[in-house]
Amino acid sequence: MLERMKIIADLHIHSRYSRACSKAITIENLEKYARLKGVGLLGCGDFTHPEWIKEIRSKLTEGDDGVLRTSSGFPFLWQTEISLMYKQGGKGRRVHHVILAPDGESASQFTDELSKIGRLDYDGRPIFGFSSVELMDMLLSISEKFMVIPAHVWTPYFGALGSKSGFDSIEECFLDKSKHIYAIETGMSSDPAMNWRLSSLDKYALVSFSDMHSFWPWRMGREATVFDVELSYDNIRGAIRTREGLLGTVEVKPDYGRYHFDGHAKCGVVFSPEETVKHHGICPVCGKALTVGVLYRVEELADRAEGFRPDGARDFSTLLPLSEIIKGVFGVSQLASKRVWSEYYTIMKGFSSEFEVLMDATRDQLLGVTSEKMVDAIMRGRNNEIYVKPGYDGEYGVPVFDDKVGDVEDGKKKDVDVVNDEPKKMQKGLDDFCS
Ligand SMILES: [Zn+2]
Ligand SMILES: [Zn+2]
Repeated sequence: MLERMKIIADLHIHSRYSRACSKAITIENLEKYARLKGVGLLGCGDFTHPEWIKEIRSKLTEGDDGVLRTSSGFPFLWQTEISLMYKQGGKGRRVHHVILAPDGESASQFTDELSKIGRLDYDGRPIFGFSSVELMDMLLSISEKFMVIPAHVWTPYFGALGSKSGFDSIEECFLDKSKHIYAIETGMSSDPAMNWRLSSLDKYALVSFSDMHSFWPWRMGREATVFDVELSYDNIRGAIRTREGLLGTVEVKPDYGRYHFDGHAKCGVVFSPEETVKHHGICPVCGKALTVGVLYRVEELADRAEGFRPDGARDFSTLLPLSEIIKGVFGVSQLASKRVWSEYYTIMKGFSSEFEVLMDATRDQLLGVTSEKMVDAIMRGRNNEIYVKPGYDGEYGVPVFDDKVGDVEDGKKKDVDVVNDEPKKMQKGLDDFCS
C-alpha cells in the first residue's frame, strides 16, 4: 500500500503545441524540469491537441488510479486548458478554465465532443464560443468526476473575475453550475491573503500553478499546490473538493505577476490603485483606459479589510525562483544568461531540488556551495524580504537588490552573454542534474 505523502503539484502547464510555447517542451523535459524544481506531480497539459495526445499516449502509461506515469514512474494527471469567448448579461466574456479529467477515456470523449464543434489542432489551448455553463454541462454528461478550475481568475483579459471581460463572482460565471466548482486558481498576481478579502470566495479552495508556457525551467513550479494524500486522481479531487489533504500553496510575491499594478506598458505608465483612481482610470500619455490590474480589482470586489483570515484558510509560502535571486545578486539584466545558469547548477549540485534550496537548506549547507552574499539573498527570499517592483499591463515585476551593480562594472558594460535562442548550456545542466 502506498503511503500518504507530501506532493508539490503543478497542474496547469502547456505543451509545445500551445501558442508561444517552446519546442523543448517534451514529456522527457517536463519530467526533468519537475525533478530539478522539486515538483512531484504535473498536469499533462493540452490533452485536446491531436499531436500532443499522441505523445502522451506513447510516452506515458495510465493506471487505474487515473495517474499517467513515465517509464521511470514520474506521475502526471490528465489536464488541459480551454479559452471561452461568449456573451452573457449583455457583455462580451473571455475566460480560461483549467480542466482535470479523471481518466484517458473521459479525456478522449471530451476531445471528441469539442472536435464536432470546432478545430483543435491550431493551439493547445483552443478557443470556443460556448459558455462556462455549457462547458460544465458537457463535462458532467461525460463524467461527474471532471474538475473545472477557473484559471488565473484575476487576470484582466482572461480571468473569470478579471476587470476587462470577467464576472463579479464565480456564481455569476457558472450560474447554477457553480456548485460543481471546488477551487479557483489565484494566478501569479494575487496571493491567498488577497483572495481572503472576498467572503464570496470562502467556499472555494485556493490553488496555484505555474501556467508554464516556455522552455525555461524557472517557469515550472513558480507557483504550486501542496497535497498530502496517497496519489490518485480521486484523492487529489477529494483534497481539492474538501480541502482535507490540501496543505496549501507555494506562491511568488504577487508584485512579481504581470498584472499586479495598473498601467500601460507601451506608454511606460505604472500606477498603484490609488494613482489610477486619481487619474480616473485614464492613461495620461495616450488618453485611453488603463489596464486595471489585480490589486485594484481585488479592492473593488473585496468586502473585508486587509489582513482578514477566514477559518480553515491554508498556509502559503512566498518564494522567488532561485534563478531570479542569482540574477539579482549578480546584478545582470537577463535571466537567460550563462552566468546565472552556471551558478544555478553549481548550487543545485549539493541538493535534491530547487525547493530544497529555497525552503529547507541550512545556512551552513548553502555556504558549502556558494558565496555568503548569495546565501544571504536566498535566506531573504525564504523570509519574503526581497522587494519586487510591481508588474503591470503584461510586464513581469522585477525583484530589486539593494547592492545591485547592474551590467555596468568599473564604468564598463559587462558582457551579458545571453543564451536566448539556444539554451543548450541550460539543457546540459539539466541533463547532468538528472543523470
Ligand atoms: Zn490561461
Ligand atoms: Zn497609454
